[in-house]
Amino acid sequence: MKFFNTLGRSLEEFHSIEPGVVKMYTCGPTLWNSPHIGNYRTFVFEDFLRRYLRYRGYKVVQIMNLTDVDDRIIKTCREENLDYRELTEKYAKEFFDDLEFLNVAPADRYPRATDHIPEMVAIIEGLILKGNAYRGDDDSIYYKIALFPDYGKLSGLVLSELKPGARVRVDDYGKDAAQDFALWKAWDAADGKIFWETTLGRGRPGWHIECSAMSMKYLGEHFDIHTGGVDNIFPHHENEIAQSEAFTGKKFVNYWLHAEWLLVDNQKMAKRLGNFITVKNIRDQGIGGAALRLLFLSGHYRMQQNFTEESLQQASHSLDRLNEFVSRLRSLSSENSLRQENTREIEPLVKQTRDSFVAALDNDLDTPRALSAVYEFVTKSNKIMDSGIHGERGANLLLEFMLKDFNEVFAVIQVKQQTENELPPVARDLLRKREEARRAKNWTEADLLREELLKIGIRVQDTPQGQKWRLEKT
Ligand code: AMP
Ligand code: ZN
Repeated sequence: MKFFNTLGRSLEEFHSIEPGVVKMYTCGPTLWNSPHIGNYRTFVFEDFLRRYLRYRGYKVVQIMNLTDVDDRIIKTCREENLDYRELTEKYAKEFFDDLEFLNVAPADRYPRATDHIPEMVAIIEGLILKGNAYRGDDDSIYYKIALFPDYGKLSGLVLSELKPGARVRVDDYGKDAAQDFALWKAWDAADGKIFWETTLGRGRPGWHIECSAMSMKYLGEHFDIHTGGVDNIFPHHENEIAQSEAFTGKKFVNYWLHAEWLLVDNQKMAKRLGNFITVKNIRDQGIGGAALRLLFLSGHYRMQQNFTEESLQQASHSLDRLNEFVSRLRSLSSENSLRQENTREIEPLVKQTRDSFVAALDNDLDTPRALSAVYEFVTKSNKIMDSGIHGERGANLLLEFMLKDFNEVFAVIQVKQQTENELPPVARDLLRKREEARRAKNWTEADLLREELLKIGIRVQDTPQGQKWRLEKT
């Protein structure tokens, strides 16, 4: 299994530090507003990585932090006159709802920055003792990048080009502004009520130290994988390395994996451009989380992906096809047929598909290639089933690949097939009315009812065998 390691910029064979166990840290959301779908492209990639490691037999410990204090949060609280707990709690709730909608499996822990102030203070004190940090004339504490010769090893920044002694207090800045950065920010009036009284004085932590403290607390000083989006490479992850390695004297992380940008209509998402899309916007259109998930995974994580309405529709159609295929297999696999068993064709097909699937994903999670192997498998299997020579065991083998291999990692197939009796009465009533309208060829009414059903998460489809329905959400 190979991954592209941003540290060293090459494909590397993956080996975990402890055999059979992977420790992985994922930079979570900054809880200052609703995350956009770009954030979720990165979160889905991280979920996929973890699911794939599990599929390949590793036990994975994943920690994802919640940033609940930083410059943006403080600014928003000031502008909206809110307590930071109130603001961040609201967005944390929204975030967890979105993760569920996208079928992202929960991390082992979601530590919050503000619950780890003593751990951050301890690291900063250690860095001061070692001479890697100092107090600036504004009373804040800064990390001295000139004393860390490896500074720039992740992002490829050349340290000799930097202005010596210059300092930056804001959390986020570009490579051209690389300077000594703030570990601890002394309180000033703009911070309002957001401060902690510590041995470092009254103030608050910088963003970068939060992730060093939380990752090392839960995963140890040296662990396997650290992930994020490409915008995290500099300065956030570069600074995490500098802080952690200067503090411990050890290598911090072995593999750094970063997901590329999601663009909307070929542009960066921004509120002022009017192209800022949230997961809620997608949900309100009646589109399921699985379609968005499949769309994200249809591109390679290291390539930029352009989101358009058409691409979402297309993902939705591909998902329908996969779900229909699985439903067909489900009914055939439990059918008490007297058909002749025929696994002569099916066994090699399953084996060959599984091999291609694993080979694609072992090669730096090549999801587009894995998906094309699966689509080809669906076409070939459908042909076999059309010919009626599959047998029950054959259908079960095909189904097993779809559920135990494909869906273990892609997690887009509707796992539980609900019966109509399990639906709420209002849904059953709408389905019955639509069936009647359809029989009476009252298409306007039938279309209206279809819309109504979609609003409550049920997608109906007319097939030669009658009206079929399924839940939008996986
Ligand atoms: P933030 O809440 O801004 O810290 O971002 C959360 C995660 O989303 C980080 O890993 C970012 O790198 C990632 N991210 C932000 N914008 C995008 C985007 N347009 N496409 C993909 N990932 C993004
Ligand atoms: Zn982080």
